Formats: sequence, C-alpha cells, structure tokens
Amino acid sequence: MSIPTKVLNNTVTIPVIGFGTWQLKGDSCYESITNAINAGYTSIDTAKAYDNEEYVGRAIKDCGKKREELFITTKLWNADQGYESTLRAFDLSMQKLQLDVLDLYLIHWPGKGRFVDTWRAMEKLYNEGLIRAIGVSNFMPYHLLELSKNSSVIPAVNQLESHPFLKQQEAEDYCKEQGILVEAWSPLMSGKTALSDPIIEEIAAKYKRTTAQVILNWHISQGRRVIPRSSNAQRIAENIDVFSFELSVDDIARINALASKNVRTGPNPDVYF
Ligand code: NDP
Repeated sequence: MSIPTKVLNNTVTIPVIGFGTWQLKGDSCYESITNAINAGYTSIDTAKAYDNEEYVGRAIKDCGKKREELFITTKLWNADQGYESTLRAFDLSMQKLQLDVLDLYLIHWPGKGRFVDTWRAMEKLYNEGLIRAIGVSNFMPYHLLELSKNSSVIPAVNQLESHPFLKQQEAEDYCKEQGILVEAWSPLMSGKTALSDPIIEEIAAKYKRTTAQVILNWHISQGRRVIPRSSNAQRIAENIDVFSFELSVDDIARINALASKNVRTGPNPDVYF
C-alpha cells in the first residue's frame, strides 16, 4: 500500500498518516506497532511521557524495514524543558529508540517560560543533523509568535488536539499562514462520542465505511496529518484503509459544523501549565 505524503517546510517528506502510541505499554505496545507496520503504516508517534520509547525502539528494529522507510516522532516532556535538559532528554530518548537520527522531535506542551531555551537546544540538534525536522505540540498562535521572535527555525509541525467536535481554528489558520503542518492528535476523539455521532454514522453508511474511516478521511481532506491509535489489529488496518473514497463538499461541511460542540478530551494549552 502506498501512503500519501506531505512535504514539510524544510522539504522533508512525511506520510500523511502515522500510528499513535499513547497508552500503549510494554509487549502490547510492541505487538500493536508490529501489527501497524504489517498493515502498512510507516510512521510512529511516541513521546517520553508515554513511557514506551523502549518498546517502540524494539518493534521498529525487529520489523524488517530499512531505517529510511520509517518516519519516527518523539516528544520532549515538560519537566525536561530548558537548554541542557533538552539535550540530555534527547540522548535518553534516542538510546531507548535505538536510533542515530530522529525524523521529528516535538516540544510536547508549551509550558511557561522555557520553550525558547528548549527550542535553541532543538535547533542545535537539528543543525547537527541528529533530527530531520523539529516542531511543537499544543502551541497557540501567541506561543508561536514568541518563538518566532526568538529563533531562526520555523517549526515544521504543530500537533494539536483535533477531531469533529473540536477545531482550533485560530491556531490552524496561523499554522497555515506560517507553513506549519497541523497534525491532529486524538483524531478519533480518543475513542469517545464522535465515533458514534448520528451525522457521522449517516455519512459512514452512505459511503459504506466505518465512522473512524470517515473521520480520518475528513481530517486528511482538511489538510491535517493524522496519528490514530488502536490496540486491535482489525481496527489498526481499518484506520489506514482511508484513501479510496472522497467525501462530498456537503458531507465535509456537515462534519465541519460539528465543531460547534467544542469539546476537548485533553487539557487546554492556555492553562495547562
Ligand atoms: P485516537 O483519537 O486515535 O483514538 C484511540 C481510541 O479509539 C482507542 O480507545 C481505540 O480503541 C479507539 N479506536 C481506534 N480505532 C478505532 C476504530 N476504527 N473504531 C472504533 N474505535 C477505534 O486517540 P489518542 O488519544 O490515542 O490520539 C492519537 C495519538 O495522538 C496518540 O496515541 C498520541 O500518539 C497522540 N497524542 C498526542 C498528544 C499531544 O499532546 N501531543 C495528546 C494525546 C495524544 P482500541 O485500542 O480498542 O481500538
């Protein structure tokens, strides 16, 4: 299966779908990643905070793919923000992942007061060729503006909570203007009510797809990258089988209208610490 790609603002190519690993632990994480790679995923999203980098590392080492066939993202945790601590945290993540070069490193949350120093360390690692692209997560336009005034590399990616019941319109618009790719985290609303919304169910029946497939196809139609997670081999395969249909303009508009529900599953970056 060939997966569509996007080109980041530094010319690095990224698959439009990756496999999310939050809450996947130990051997079950290893097994889910193995299933994902067998189903055709070439990209994995992890984070220090998920406490599974070691299992991600083992799974990608054992999967039989060449390193250049895979695109691996990890994230710097809040407690590690700061210049020196970022360099140390990166080393530790790379040891656990058993990698020499990382594809994408993200600041997990903006936090308060330290992301400029953190970014300086990430720029150093990027300039040394140890990371192919650097980005952020949960950054609002005011965070991105502050970063741009104090740095030379524009983030390649901003990973934001995004699903049919939540659109961070201002942040998405700002990212589009700046050439920053938006990745939808919890694209399936973390398994919650969007998957059984009556409008999405109606659309899914019309296209003879599942609600998860409709939601992922809709995200991609809106220019976002998606990183769905599942621990079930059948759903893992279902979630990547989303490229053989096209939603009509009207159906896209009906899903877009659900954003008025404005429900977050995770913290609000304005207040999360
Ligand atoms: P998703 O939105 O991907 O939803 C996952 C949940 O939906 C699981 O409970 C899963 O259950 C269920 N599910 C998956 N596929 C289907 C399907 N086809 N039909 C029905 N149910 C399904 O959740 P996440 O919150 O994990 O977000 C995705 C990824 O985003 C994370 O894993 C992580 O990598 C990243 N993330 C980043 C954050 C950040 O701050 N940057 C924050 C949160 C997440 P089951 O396993 O039983 O299939």
